[in-house]
Amino acid sequence: MKIYGIKVDSQSRCIHYHTKNDIVALMCQQCHKFYACYKCHDELNNHKFKPVKINQAKNILCGNCQTLLTYTQYKLNYCPYCQHRFNPKCIIHQSIYFKN
Ligand SMILES: [Zn+2]
Ligand SMILES: [Zn+2]
Ligand SMILES: [Zn+2]
Repeated sequence: MKIYGIKVDSQSRCIHYHTKNDIVALMCQQCHKFYACYKCHDELNNHKFKPVKINQAKNILCGNCQTLLTYTQYKLNYCPYCQHRFNPKCIIHQSIYFKN
């Protein structure tokens, strides 16, 4: 699965978010590509990041094990497949990435 972004590493860290736990990639509803973060998306596209529906199947990517996750799995705040923790501060940007 290709993860787009600026200076993205193999686990989906980017120039904006690059702590140990910044490993989630999210899909834009408009271009259907996975981005390391919305800032990367907005800098590389001529449209703003479009949120995906919360209950849409598996549109969150764990950058550590490359497994697609549902929103419910993502909300565990760790990956149920590889147990890698996610950054809890992602919640601040909830409305950018997800809509009901
Ligand atoms: Zn897009
Ligand atoms: Zn970024
Ligand atoms: Zn994982």
